[in-house]
Amino acid sequence: MNQVITEPQQKHPKGLWVLFGTEMWERFNFYGMRAILTLFMVNSLLMKEADASLIYGGFLGLCYLTPMLGGFISDRFFGNRNCIMLGGLMMAVGQFLLFMSATVFSSNMSLATTLLWTALTIIIFGNGFFKPNISSMVGSLYPKQEKSKLDTAFTIFYMGINLGAFLGQLICPLVGDVKDAGGIRDIHAFKWGFLAASIAMVLGTVVFHFLKDKYVVTPEGKPLGGLPKHNDASQYEEGEAQKAEFSMQSLVIAAISFVALFFVFRFLLAGTNPIKTIIYPIIYALGLTLAGLIISDKSLTKVELQRICVIYIVGFFIIFFWAAFEQAGSSLTFIADNQTDRKIFGWDMPPSMVQIFNGAFVFAFAFPFSMLWDKLRIKGIEPQSTAKQALGLGLIALSYIIIAYNVKDLGNSGLLAIKWLILLYLIQTFAELCLSPIGLSLVGKLAPKRFASLLFGVFFLSNAAGYALAGSLGAIIPATGDKFKKATEIGIDLQGVLDKKITPNGKELFLLAQFNLASVENKEIGKQIDPVIKQNNKFIEDAKKADKNFKLDVTKLVLPSEDITAKIQTEKGIVAANPVFVGFEIHNLFEFFMVFVVLTGIASVLLFLLTPVLKKMMHGVK
Ligand code: GLN
Repeated sequence: MNQVITEPQQKHPKGLWVLFGTEMWERFNFYGMRAILTLFMVNSLLMKEADASLIYGGFLGLCYLTPMLGGFISDRFFGNRNCIMLGGLMMAVGQFLLFMSATVFSSNMSLATTLLWTALTIIIFGNGFFKPNISSMVGSLYPKQEKSKLDTAFTIFYMGINLGAFLGQLICPLVGDVKDAGGIRDIHAFKWGFLAASIAMVLGTVVFHFLKDKYVVTPEGKPLGGLPKHNDASQYEEGEAQKAEFSMQSLVIAAISFVALFFVFRFLLAGTNPIKTIIYPIIYALGLTLAGLIISDKSLTKVELQRICVIYIVGFFIIFFWAAFEQAGSSLTFIADNQTDRKIFGWDMPPSMVQIFNGAFVFAFAFPFSMLWDKLRIKGIEPQSTAKQALGLGLIALSYIIIAYNVKDLGNSGLLAIKWLILLYLIQTFAELCLSPIGLSLVGKLAPKRFASLLFGVFFLSNAAGYALAGSLGAIIPATGDKFKKATEIGIDLQGVLDKKITPNGKELFLLAQFNLASVENKEIGKQIDPVIKQNNKFIEDAKKADKNFKLDVTKLVLPSEDITAKIQTEKGIVAANPVFVGFEIHNLFEFFMVFVVLTGIASVLLFLLTPVLKKMMHGVK
């Protein structure tokens, strides 16, 4: 055991630094764009925060679904290198389309929306080509006899990821999330953030293109990650080439189960938003189907089966981790924007930059953490992987308890001090370091070789499911300070409405919908009021352009015809109410954060209690 630690610190191949640099630029592009994406959708494309959260969750979820496809195509056809180049270029193009969307939205909203969808789709597939291939190249840099260096290699690589995230979340908000001295946001600045992300991705691709042949090679100097047909069999461990083959019968059953599960989830997630009724069900159904398909294989021994079940159980709990952790780019950014005092030494930090603390803390603490685990291992008291993951979940619960109690007495106009968000990200980073880096290596150790890539796929899908859940949970964010302020400006007591002490009439409901303070529940009515809303938005936008100090006078706004406003009220076409989560009404931010405390708290305790059982089921794998 000790031998691993006392081994002289050997040098890592130069190729690791090429992959480090490439991944760093790629994560710059990804996290930088992510930081400003939801704010762009809400402020420039005038979407509701709840819808932006759902889209954001769906987007991230799909980014973790496509790596299965990317891995498959790489293994069979293109090879790692080509897939990294292709994925990188696709993401650069996607970011450029976001830049275009953020350039044209004020003159052509429907073109801007089309560009947004196209861009996100291209990025999703680009990420699918890029992400699995760069990670697997890290592994292939080390020949069999040097696999002991892999843990440090991945820690270094994880730091590259987070250095990139840090830089992206620094630069993109600086140029893209701009407010003037009076706190008024420049809704035309987001484009510069997307352009920065696009340039970063081009840089990453160029770095990789020019350095790969020289450095990303075997110790003998042969290029790694070329076309699969040129692969040198000696790179593989014995038995590794064995592939999983499923019978026609199990594939048909899997296909039928997928369709059935899709409809079950569609029914459970009932709603009008296509992200919720199509994308989320696909993610959940695919994960379960694939998991089922693998264990239906008759050749699995009892030990193998139990080990796979450990992966599934851990994968299930991890869903709750990412669901709570990934509030960073949606609800936590909205709160940083709308109800936080972001002053740091007199400087007002852009709201989208607040998430930067995650990347920064990972960078600072990744090595200390891995040293801590090494020390505990020498003493023979290193906790089991699943216990570490339970601890990670528990830390997330703790981070939300702290923030929940700090928002409790804020009321509608008080501001949360930024230090509490920084503390939240510090604790969540510790949680991430307990859980995220060991997840993949656990799968690597437990998976039977012939099912390894599929099981990685299932594991990625549990990340995807976590992000989808994050989207649904982010969408239950209650009204924050800015909403109450906006409502006062248009002469409506929003708190009174939400507490059901005041019943707004049709005209007032329309005004609430105009400013995204109420949701349009009836599609017909939605269609009828849409042009009116657009006309008013145009009027406000033009007035703001002409006069920086423009103050809204509601009487100047156009209203829908009398019969439509009457219908709005009688048919409940527009509803102003608190969000509801599994039957519970979420009245305020305290209750919102407590949802995460309860979810991750229960998950943590259960996983902790299961640890001894899971240990048995691992059959000696550490
Ligand atoms: N932050 C890490 C990355 O971007 C891990 C994210 C994850 O595994 N879901 O790669």
